[in-house]
Amino acid sequence: MAKKGIRFVDIKDKLNHKTDSKKNIKTNKNIALNTVNKTKDIFGHNLKLWELLSNKIEKVLDFYQYEQIETPIVEYAELVLGGLLKDESENKKQFFLVEKAGEKSMILRPELLSGMIRSYFENKMQNKTQPVKMYSLGRVFLDKPENVFSQYYQLGLESIGDSSPIIEVETMLAIKRLLESFGFEHISFEVNNLGCETCQEAYIKEVKKFFKEKKTKLCSKCKKALQGNVWDVFNCKEEKCKALRSGLPAFDDFWCSNCKKHFSIIVEYLDFLKMNYEINTQLRGFSKFEDKFVFTVHYVEKDKKHNIGFGFRHDNLMKTISMNGKYGVGASIDVNSLFKSLRNHKNKKEIEPFSVFLVQIGDMAKKKAFELVEELRKENIIVKTNLSKDSLRNQIAMAEKSKVDCILVIGQEEVMRGEVIIRDFQSGLQESVSFAKLIANLAKRKKQAN
Ligand SMILES: [Zn+2]
Ligand SMILES: [Zn+2]
Repeated sequence: MAKKGIRFVDIKDKLNHKTDSKKNIKTNKNIALNTVNKTKDIFGHNLKLWELLSNKIEKVLDFYQYEQIETPIVEYAELVLGGLLKDESENKKQFFLVEKAGEKSMILRPELLSGMIRSYFENKMQNKTQPVKMYSLGRVFLDKPENVFSQYYQLGLESIGDSSPIIEVETMLAIKRLLESFGFEHISFEVNNLGCETCQEAYIKEVKKFFKEKKTKLCSKCKKALQGNVWDVFNCKEEKCKALRSGLPAFDDFWCSNCKKHFSIIVEYLDFLKMNYEINTQLRGFSKFEDKFVFTVHYVEKDKKHNIGFGFRHDNLMKTISMNGKYGVGASIDVNSLFKSLRNHKNKKEIEPFSVFLVQIGDMAKKKAFELVEELRKENIIVKTNLSKDSLRNQIAMAEKSKVDCILVIGQEEVMRGEVIIRDFQSGLQESVSFAKLIANLAKRKKQAN
C-alpha cells in the first residue's frame, strides 16, 4: 500500500541520473528517491541477461566440478582487509566499512575470495575430499575514483586443499572454457612465479644488496619500499627507477627447487593443452598473500588486448588463517565484461524464449483466459496477459510492447465457438484454432521459432 505523501516518479529519469546530484528526485517529505551514489537497479531485460549469464557460468563450471556457493555480502573487516591490504597505510577509503554498536568492524565485501576461504574453514570443508572447488558469483563493493559503479559483479573461483600445480592448470582451463562460451576470442594468459618464502627471502636479500649503492638515485616511494615491502619497487613506473632495476639479476635464478619444479609442470601442461601464455617476470601484486604462481587473463577485441581477470596461489594466506590450512588457488573474473559480451553477441532467442500474449474481451472470455493460461504454462509456453484490463486497444498495445511471438485473442464469440484467434506477431497473419488444437499449434510455432 502506497504511503500517503509519496509521489511516484518516472523511472526513466531515475535510470539516467548517473551521479548528477542536481537531478535528485525527492518526495514532498524530502526523502531522496535516488539509488545511492554510483549504484544502480537492474531489472527487465538486463535482469534476464544476468540470469542467463549465471546459468551459462554454472553450466561450464559445473563441468569442471566447481560447486556454487553464496556467502554473505558482509564479512568481518579483519578477515578481508588482513588479506587485501599490502600495508596498513594503504588507502582504506575505497572500502565500505559497516559499523554497528557492540560488534566488530564489518565490511561490504570488496572481493569474493576471502568469504569462500572463510567458509571452507567454518564449514569444516577440510574434512571433505580435497581439493574443494567452489565458485561464487555476486556483488562486490569497491569505490575507486575511476570506477563508474562502486557496486558491481564479480566471479570468484577457489580450489582449496591441494598443492599440486595441476590446480593452477585446471583453474586456467576452466576460465578459458568459460570465456570461450561467452564468445571471447584469442584468450591468453600472462604467468609468473613469485616464489615461496625460501626463494623470496634469498631474492629480497639480493635486491637490497643491489640497491645499496644506488639507493639515492631511486624515487622516494622506492626508497621506502626497500625498508618495508621490497616487492613494491617492481611496481614503480618512474623511468629512472625502471632503468636502475634493469640491471637486477633475474628472480628465476633464485627460485628454490620446489618452485622451479612447480612452475615447470604448469608450463608443461599449458603447452600440452595448447593454451596461449606468456611468461612475464614483472607480473605481481594482487594482494599481500599471493605466492608462487600468479596469472592474468586476457582476450583480444578489435585488435586490442583486454585484461579480464587474474589468479594466484595463496598458500601463505591459508597458513595465516589456520594451522590446518595449507593450500589454495583463487581467481577473479570481471563479470561486467562477460555481461557486455552477452548483450552484444547473443541472439534474441536465448534471452527471450517463445512467448504469447493472451488478449481477452468480455466476462466469459476472461474466465476462459484464466483456464487457458494455466494450460499453456503447464506446457512451458510463456504466456503474458493483463487480465485486469478490459479494453482491446490497451491489451493489443501491451502485447506489442512485450514483443511476443504470437498474440492470442478470445472474445465472447470465440468462447461460444470453442476457438481462439492466433495472430503471428511478425507477419500479422492470423488463424482461428480450436481450444483442443491450441497447444499443438503453439508447440509447432515454438519449434519453428527456435
Ligand atoms: Zn621457492
Ligand atoms: Zn621508484
